[in-house]
Amino acid sequence: MSERKVRVRFAPSPTGALHIGGVRTALYNYLFARQHGGEFIFRIEDTDSTRFVPGAEEYIIESFKWLGIEFDEGVSYGGQHGPYRQSERRDIYKKYVKQLLDAGKAYIAFDTPEELDAKRAEIQNFQYDASTRAMMRNSLSLAADEVSALIESGHQYVVRFKIEPGEDVHVNDMIRGDVVINSSILDDKVLYKSADELPTYHLANIVDDHLMEVTHVIRGEEWLPSAPLHVLLYRAFGWEDTMPSFAHLPLLLKPDGKGKLSKRDGDRLGFPVFPLEWHDPKSGEVSSGYRESGYLPEAVLNFLALLGWNPGTDQEIMSLEEMVKLFDITKCSKAGARFDYVKGMWFNKEYILMKDNSELAPEFDKILRANGIVATMEQVEAVVGMMKMKKINFIKELWPLCDFFFIAPETYSMEDKFVRKNWGETAAADMSELADLLESLTDFSVASQQTAVEKWVEETGKKPWNPWRVALVGTGKGPDMYELSAFLGKEETLRRLRKAIEILK
Ligand code: GLU
Repeated sequence: MSERKVRVRFAPSPTGALHIGGVRTALYNYLFARQHGGEFIFRIEDTDSTRFVPGAEEYIIESFKWLGIEFDEGVSYGGQHGPYRQSERRDIYKKYVKQLLDAGKAYIAFDTPEELDAKRAEIQNFQYDASTRAMMRNSLSLAADEVSALIESGHQYVVRFKIEPGEDVHVNDMIRGDVVINSSILDDKVLYKSADELPTYHLANIVDDHLMEVTHVIRGEEWLPSAPLHVLLYRAFGWEDTMPSFAHLPLLLKPDGKGKLSKRDGDRLGFPVFPLEWHDPKSGEVSSGYRESGYLPEAVLNFLALLGWNPGTDQEIMSLEEMVKLFDITKCSKAGARFDYVKGMWFNKEYILMKDNSELAPEFDKILRANGIVATMEQVEAVVGMMKMKKINFIKELWPLCDFFFIAPETYSMEDKFVRKNWGETAAADMSELADLLESLTDFSVASQQTAVEKWVEETGKKPWNPWRVALVGTGKGPDMYELSAFLGKEETLRRLRKAIEILK
């Protein structure tokens, strides 16, 4: 069994936008697959037609494309184990339902929803199991010819799993160790419904994990209660030799308190809980996404990787390749991970600093265009390079910090504290000397300006920096003055200097 090739899967149900917790689950599966030279499958679990939401599958696929998480096979990827959409596998499931029925490990039940409700009203904590089966309408309590007659006359039925009570069921969990649950607390779960001829999640999930040769099931903690049932199903089919190992990942918790992270926390505190912006087709509601909010995909993955796992050192910044090397599923925490979205912004800031200016420029260019600025890519890159050091969390924060690169200050207002403080008695005279000096330069590079200006400063003892900034920027922000002047070029620098002198005197 240990020689089997590692195969893991991410198996979302297309019931809406992909939650950020689902992204973390997929990431951990991806890291596990890659570090074991294994394969990663993308399966769509859409057997519950009542919860199907159009567009959700496409949304999930696009999310992973954006994040740079690649699957080896599955919906939209193809592969040898398809189809990978469960709604296209009906006939496969029917065969396995029949196998369980023939072996006496499952049975047919005719109880209508009304009958079940009546029982629940009659018996406190009613559970459909070994202790109550006999009083219900099923193939165990009814005579065989009665069962056939009911089916032939078109009565709807479900197939239930026959759980044997009083047995300790062991779930081998890579994070939680040996999890033991007594089968008596489990109910006879519905595996199949004749009404839509579809299996339920549990049956489809197990049959597919088996047929797709899944070796490790890595998923959210909310599935832990289903795991004993899954173990029993594997056994009922006689597949115990290929039973996967399980890993139930810790919950993502609210940033500021107890309980599970929800979309409402995001709305309340102002952070996205979805990778991409989501337009709910039913309600029309639009929810923000990490992509549209200006996060870099690498920053999102790095942030998520550390929610529930750490490399055992202080290292926080990790490329995907490094994560593949360092990740250890057995070292994931059992306790929930607080969703520290402020830390998420910190990761974005760090990744902006690490990125090449050329990679950041297109996004800033979009913002410039929206503000009516047309610049060359070279100029956009130069501005990003000068200004990203200002510790911005998002590229969009650059615009108010650097509008002056593209728009000359119109008026110079003494209302502005920086102007008032720094445009002193001698400023006009000093700036006109500086302007003459700069005008005499043929080379307007940073180095050339620096040599000339420093010499002048040394000879005269003047302090030109702040009035120079007043003239070029109109207030107290921006990069180094040589860099700014070199960016603006000689003509524009002189124009702004002379205009300031004229207006401010
Ligand atoms: N379809 C389930 C989900 O939506 C899959 C759970 C599992 O991985 O077994 O998360």
